[in-house]
Amino acid sequence: MIRPHLWVLVWGLVVMPVLATALEVRGVFSQGGYVVGETQPHATITASNGERTLTTTANADGLFVLGLDRDAASTLTVKTPSGNTTIPITAVEYNIQRINGLPPSQVSPVNPKLLKRIRAEAKLKRQGYASQADVAGFAQTFIPPVTGPVTGAFGNQRVLNGEPKRPHYGVDIAAPKGSPIVAPADGIVSLANNDMHYEGGLVFLDHGQGLVSVYLHMDSVAVKAGQRVKQGEVLGTVGAKGRATGPHLCWRMRWQGQNMDPSLWLDDGFTDPAKTAD
Ligand SMILES: [Zn+2]
Repeated sequence: MIRPHLWVLVWGLVVMPVLATALEVRGVFSQGGYVVGETQPHATITASNGERTLTTTANADGLFVLGLDRDAASTLTVKTPSGNTTIPITAVEYNIQRINGLPPSQVSPVNPKLLKRIRAEAKLKRQGYASQADVAGFAQTFIPPVTGPVTGAFGNQRVLNGEPKRPHYGVDIAAPKGSPIVAPADGIVSLANNDMHYEGGLVFLDHGQGLVSVYLHMDSVAVKAGQRVKQGEVLGTVGAKGRATGPHLCWRMRWQGQNMDPSLWLDDGFTDPAKTAD
């Protein structure tokens, strides 16, 4: 159940002749954030930023999720059969992060055999992101997958060995090798692989409707593709495999190609609720 105090009630254009329900949305309305809402069961929802429109389908309870990209436009218009709303999206300033001393094969690979492997792994990842699980983990309050200091913020513009690269689409949390990584919410595993070139041990977890959270550089992987996991269940352990300079979890999140900041799903950041509770 979604906590009522977080809901923003938006009464949209009433198109139903009788008893139209309100369009309710909550979330973090900033670049990298998200929107969770409730409309009619199985309704089609469109989300438009003025340039392009993404479409999704509510579940049997009418719940739906939308992801906001790192570079999302300043407004998002959400249309459902039970009402519409236009949400202002706050811009985020990102830093530049320089990482040096990486092996050249991890920055600009040229070896044909390695390039073939990287292409094959990119296909696996595309398939993992295309998952559409019928679960509602996205409507839960997320728990941290691991606790520890954040050593790399989401969205940083990256310069690797002096070469400008894609932004950092994850948040890095330092933790000792072997620390358990748990599912932050219910989901279905859409990809599990022990040994990817860039990612090392890698798990994709679909929290419903293609909201996929991703765990990189894992030392060991404890789940299999297709497996249903509950919030708090162990996915594997922290490691430094793939393109990593030390043991940490790189945690990512994506929905329909929108690269999102997973830390925005946590109320208290990456601290252990059990340790901080009074
Ligand atoms: Zn990372």
